[in-house]
Amino acid sequence: GVSVRLGAVVKEFETETGELIRALDGLSLDVAAGEFIAIVGPSGCGKSTLLNILAGLDRASTGLVEIGGAPARGPHPEAGVVFQSDYLLPWRSVLDNVLLPIEIKGLDRKAHVPAAEQLLADVGLAGFGAKKPSELSGGMRQRAGICRAIIQKPGLLLMDEPFGALDALTREQMIIDLQALWLRLGNTVIFITHGIDEAVFLADRVIVLSPRPGRIDLDLKVDMARP
Ligand code: ADP
Ligand code: ADP
Repeated sequence: GVSVRLGAVVKEFETETGELIRALDGLSLDVAAGEFIAIVGPSGCGKSTLLNILAGLDRASTGLVEIGGAPARGPHPEAGVVFQSDYLLPWRSVLDNVLLPIEIKGLDRKAHVPAAEQLLADVGLAGFGAKKPSELSGGMRQRAGICRAIIQKPGLLLMDEPFGALDALTREQMIIDLQALWLRLGNTVIFITHGIDEAVFLADRVIVLSPRPGRIDLDLKVDMARP
């Protein structure tokens, strides 16, 4: 995994009326390589803003953003992202969705097919590669989305409420499966969730953001015995 460092990160948005909204107000956070961090907090506290900045989808107004010890500019090659919505391309097969990052990077698609099929099998989707996303359940599509995020073995996995749209039972199974996957990958994970239960179960460290935008209320080390 890679380390992440945020130093006094400020993010301001301008509204249509020209008013400035401070989504992050001087956030500082150090994440060690291989650490699994969960970020919780009330709606509007800046969780998605933080993740979008780390994913390179947005830029901090001021402050330091480092991934793997170097300033982050734009989408980072070491970062894989999973959102609440799976964003699978409906006209592509599940396998071709998983292989999308490989194609975008101009790498040899064929050479990566066995790895993609193995990943799908790892998350319980063996035999579903040829199906279209619409033929899968919500949980299965989210699993495929995770496969697409990790096909390139990212040093940093960013997840924004990946299970937020799933029913309780599916969600519980996904949490267990994600833990198994992470124990094998050992990459750094930043996991945004509304579920304090899944945060405590999965993470080494739980960060609670304050309703005051992007301030840390609580930084808690979780010491659970791992399987
Ligand atoms: P959540 O609480 O689940 O993160 P939000 O509704 O706060 O969901 O945000 C979802 C997305 O919409 C975020 O990526 C955010 O950047 C964007 N967003 C949130 N508020 C606004 C806004 N006032 N104007 C434009 N985009 C927004
Ligand atoms: P969370 O994910 O914790 O719900 P967000 O990061 O989505 O919070 O939003 C933090 C604050 O920034 C909110 O007040 C939200 O309305 C605002 N915001 C987020 N994205 C935008 C945007 N693109 N334009 C304007 N305001 C935004």
